[in-house]
Amino acid sequence: MKISVDENLCIGCGACVNTCPQSFKMNQEKHKSEPINPPGDPEEKIKEAKDNCPAGAIKIEE
Ligand code: SF4
Repeated sequence: MKISVDENLCIGCGACVNTCPQSFKMNQEKHKSEPINPPGDPEEKIKEAKDNCPAGAIKIEE
């Protein structure tokens, strides 16, 4: 599994980092989330983060 964040869409809310701290980290300069690959959280949690992203910025590549 590989994840990506579209930084043009991300609004930096931090929700994905809270849900999956081993799969996303905040870029403090840009105030955007960045993916950590390979992601360290369970697949279900990553899907939850994707579904809950208010900007639809997270993509999962199987
Ligand atoms: S949940 Fe979405 S909008 Fe919020 S920080 Fe993560 S990628 Fe960005």
